[in-house]
Amino acid sequence: MEYKVAKFGGSSLATADRIKHVCDVVLSDPARKYVVVSAPGKKEDKEHKVTDHLINIARSGSHIHAYTARHSLDFLNQRYNEIAEGIGINPVFLERIMEDLESRRASKYDSPAAKEDAIKAWGEDSNARIIAEHLKLRGVYATYVNPRVAGFAVEGNFGNASVSQSTYPNLEKSLALPEAVIIFPGFFGYTKQGHVATFSRGGSDLTGAVIAAAMNAREYENWTDVDGIYSADPRIVAEPSLIRYVTYSELRELSYMGFSVFHDEAISPVRRNMIPTHIRNTSKPEEQGSKIVTKRIPSLNEVVLGVACKKDFCSFDIRKDNMNKEIGFLARATNVFNNYHISIEHMTTGVDFVSVVISQNQLDNGKLDEIYRALHTELRINDAIDALDFTMDRAMVIAVGEGMKRHLDAEARITGALSKAKIKPGMISKPEHGLSIIYGVGNDEAEDAVRAIHSEMIK
Ligand code: ASP
Repeated sequence: MEYKVAKFGGSSLATADRIKHVCDVVLSDPARKYVVVSAPGKKEDKEHKVTDHLINIARSGSHIHAYTARHSLDFLNQRYNEIAEGIGINPVFLERIMEDLESRRASKYDSPAAKEDAIKAWGEDSNARIIAEHLKLRGVYATYVNPRVAGFAVEGNFGNASVSQSTYPNLEKSLALPEAVIIFPGFFGYTKQGHVATFSRGGSDLTGAVIAAAMNAREYENWTDVDGIYSADPRIVAEPSLIRYVTYSELRELSYMGFSVFHDEAISPVRRNMIPTHIRNTSKPEEQGSKIVTKRIPSLNEVVLGVACKKDFCSFDIRKDNMNKEIGFLARATNVFNNYHISIEHMTTGVDFVSVVISQNQLDNGKLDEIYRALHTELRINDAIDALDFTMDRAMVIAVGEGMKRHLDAEARITGALSKAKIKPGMISKPEHGLSIIYGVGNDEAEDAVRAIHSEMIK
């Protein structure tokens, strides 16, 4: 039998009743042998997630944060007590879980970031232990599996770790032929040095995708609190359309630009191993949801499938006479960013012109000035004839869809819609694959641009 991996998001696990319901969903299909869980999320919109409280606690070494830490600890105690009581967990079992949090807080770490990750990961880890225990109490053969024991290896930065290649063969061995239902905590793995390191926020999706790829799962089910993937963020566009089928490539572009239903880094493991992925609503298991597939044929009149935007970019605009003749010009420009460990998100070029777009949050500690000066020197900018500028607070708006490849008027219609909304994009980037177009606009124009494109191209 080929198994399914079922990942449940935090809002599906925020209360005792929701956890019970999730367990019903798991048990309703015997193929659901690998269950990945997030930390309990928000019960209602106005509260914070368990992970947010854990971050508060981890950062609360100083007096300034003391109040917040106390508040967060009280919140966690109350939430975990409610859950434990509601699903019949023995108080001694819960006490051990809460002691684990205390011991993570009291331990010595190499850096504040290492401490933060160890504390943050407690949310997923504790929830997996509690859910496995609840299933056992229901007479189900279920077991919690610790990522260290399973060989879930990660590397890179704390808070933004990447999956090590060794994880795949490790999991293939350690999780093969499960007799029990395996409850696996999402969001973190262990570094070579044995430290807990988490992925970026929402990273439990990635854990599920990695397990699905390693086990060559029949399907990766990603259970969440919405009906599926929408053609735009419902906070921006009222009543967007529900997308039934989307390709990995389309979704990768949309997720990168802010479609948060599925973590953008989770796409690559399932895409590489061609694991069908299914986004489903936990409270409506009878609904079809959205399916992520390798290939799809869009209907004849479908052009754009989804529109998204991402804010807070900084664009460095370089104009240099006869740039095309200077061998290594672009390499020298990109090297400046390399030297500051800054990743480049987009680059567009003209005859004597190049724009390098980076995410603004990488520009802390006066880096903006330093980069500006370094570019000026390295590119031998002559102020009399060349120009070097930067613009902050830029947003990228993306229109994505397989259908755009065969509709020659797609760009004209989008540009028309933007100009009707009085938005004049700065840079426009259209990769050769024809699957998407990116428009650079001001942060304050981003939502209007999404609405304009959506209403012209989708509905
Ligand atoms: N609990 C983590 C977060 O809130 C990870 C996840 O839910 O996927 O980001």
